[in-house]
Amino acid sequence: STQRPLPTIRQLPPNLVNQIAAGEVIERPASVVKELVENSIDAGSHRIEVTIAGGGTELIRISDDGCGMTPEQLPLAIASHATSKLPDDDSLFSVRTLGFRGEALASIGSVSHMTIRSRTVGDDSGSEVQVRGGVIEPPAPCGCPVGTVIEIKNLFFNTPVRHRFLKTATTERGHIVEAFTRLALANPQVHFVLINNDKVVYDLPTSTRWSDRIGAFFGDEIASVLIPIRDVDDQVRISGYVCDPSVSRGNNRMQYLFLNGRHIRDRSLQHALGEAYRGLLMVGRFPVCFLRMDMPPELIDVNVHPTKLEVRFTDGGKVYARLLQTLRHQFLRTDMTQRVGPGS
Ligand code: ADP
Ligand code: MG
Repeated sequence: STQRPLPTIRQLPPNLVNQIAAGEVIERPASVVKELVENSIDAGSHRIEVTIAGGGTELIRISDDGCGMTPEQLPLAIASHATSKLPDDDSLFSVRTLGFRGEALASIGSVSHMTIRSRTVGDDSGSEVQVRGGVIEPPAPCGCPVGTVIEIKNLFFNTPVRHRFLKTATTERGHIVEAFTRLALANPQVHFVLINNDKVVYDLPTSTRWSDRIGAFFGDEIASVLIPIRDVDDQVRISGYVCDPSVSRGNNRMQYLFLNGRHIRDRSLQHALGEAYRGLLMVGRFPVCFLRMDMPPELIDVNVHPTKLEVRFTDGGKVYARLLQTLRHQFLRTDMTQRVGPGS
């Protein structure tokens, strides 16, 4: 019998590992925006500016006024599995930051031309580092304000398949705007700016009222029919708004759910929402809502999905019941049927 040669098993070089990791997390330009803005939020920024050109394929630039990084920290920040957000091994089970995997900068740097400029309050000048397809240039001093500026060009230049899957600039810009919307809704304490092809698309100063930010994105049609929701106990805090049935939609894309400051998708919670509106909406119509839930991080597992869009609750049934009960109580106090129809 003929014997096939034994395959060789090899440990992959770091750069290939990073490209594989990028395949999971960096699907398109909008994923870059999400990861970088999350880093800016975790860095305690008060103002975050997102600049894009060509639907993000020509340029993505995120500027923040957060804590910045020292010249010594910069190379570590772009190394894979390096993070400042898990100070000890137990903190994985009580994550309070948006990031914790330590993979975004390594992944993005492996599939683009990335420039990082950063400065901390304690440093007189900043430093700059360039990464091209995972190859890191030595950091150099540079002048820059306190905070961080990250510029991404030539995204997917060395991953032809990903590059081919990019859609038109208009479509990619649409995905970026959606990612930006979720981040800006989740973080009303931050001043957000979005600039597309040199034009300011959004300039959203902070406001104490969440409804101001909702109105900035969705206009008066939505902002004028918001019904406040609020229910707080020692474990879970639910707040935000549901909308009058008159502004229902044909899909569930206008159901914004935020858990501990993170935008999430959760079938069970969407189902609870549908149940609460049962009898108020026609079949095939979906309510519009903007709901924030906050609970101790120990009760949630965010380490189930690479982009953390889905999370797992230790007691999902309880969270479901709690949301449904909160909404039903509110609906009993608000005469919803009176509000349906034109002119209401
Ligand atoms: P993670 O966010 O999971 O920690 P990243 O690869 O996104 O992983 O970032 C790695 C590290 O780089 C972060 O933990 C943080 O210390 C630092 N960092 C990244 N972006 C910024 C920023 N905008 N400001 C300050 N530090 C940052
Ligand atoms: Mg990150």
